[in-house]
Amino acid sequence: MLGAAGRRAGTAEQVRVDVHNIRMRRRNRLNAARRALAKRSDVILTAVTGATSGMMGASNSSHERDTPPTPRDQEHTVTTSSSNRIAPIEYRVFTATRPGINPDLPAGYESLAWVANSATLIHGTRDAVLVDTFFTLEHSGQLADQIAATGKSLTHIYITHAHGDHFFGINTLKARFPSVRAVAPASVVERIQTRLEADTQLLRARFPGQIPDDPGVPDSLDGASIELEGQSLIPIETGFTDSADSTSLHVPSIGLIAAGDVVYNGIHPFLAETNGQTRLEWIDALDKLDALEPRAVVAGHKIPDNDDDPGNIAATRTYLRDFIRLEQTTDTPRALFDAMIELYPDRANPGSLWGGAIAAKSPAGNP
Ligand SMILES: [Zn+2]
Repeated sequence: MLGAAGRRAGTAEQVRVDVHNIRMRRRNRLNAARRALAKRSDVILTAVTGATSGMMGASNSSHERDTPPTPRDQEHTVTTSSSNRIAPIEYRVFTATRPGINPDLPAGYESLAWVANSATLIHGTRDAVLVDTFFTLEHSGQLADQIAATGKSLTHIYITHAHGDHFFGINTLKARFPSVRAVAPASVVERIQTRLEADTQLLRARFPGQIPDDPGVPDSLDGASIELEGQSLIPIETGFTDSADSTSLHVPSIGLIAAGDVVYNGIHPFLAETNGQTRLEWIDALDKLDALEPRAVVAGHKIPDNDDDPGNIAATRTYLRDFIRLEQTTDTPRALFDAMIELYPDRANPGSLWGGAIAAKSPAGNP
């Protein structure tokens, strides 16, 4: 039914049932389920409340799923204790599912051409800090409703990196929560300024009528951390990952990392802005997050129903290593795309991989 799969169909028709065929059947089931999801992809907003206790050892099923992503809602409470205080800290992950940015990809992969953004609300008994926003007017309005429903006082919005899909909801949220401050490290703010115009045009072209006239930009964060009811939320500068000057936000007291786009969970990483050198820097960034020994890692793009398993750090690293290796052994974007799809048939948003394969095979792709 599709490019790479069509090529594999001859194998599937053989009497011999092997691992390859099993993967094809899994993929077909998954595609059928996701096709239904993608049809309503512009209106899906889900929330999952998480806690870092019990996350250890949770299965990482990000790219070997049999079940479609379905909304779910779980409640957990973590009590974090230190020598002189006990403060309950929880986090809630909101996801908004939408079509991928890159509408151009090889035929046959339409059912996977969706992606979900995450926004993580970290909160105590009274206050809350949001990590990243959504970007369409509709999703931002829904996110504001969800935050308001928690009854928490939103003090800060932390922006992890300069891609518009992570911060274009700032002004929509400010309209609903007038005292909130949107902040990011100075490097992120500077990077936003250099690319804001181009990113705005790109998103407006892809999502006409859905992008705010004035999305808002974050202020430079004063100090090294954001305080939430006596606990520190610490920006981790991760350098070049899926874009320049990316960061993650670490909450040491509960072992949480809101990773931004340093980590992907069940979604093809965005590689179109990377090159041979920066892909290695991205791996270094993943090592940096691993060294923090997190108990939960929220990817900036995740399958809504997937756990926020720290194993997604290693899974992203493996993906990048596979891409680096296969980039060197293939001659064309299509060959690289097909080779990666063989390894990652179930990841959502293959348009992201296609854009990355084209960039990698362009003359400037690998200086
Ligand atoms: Zn992103």
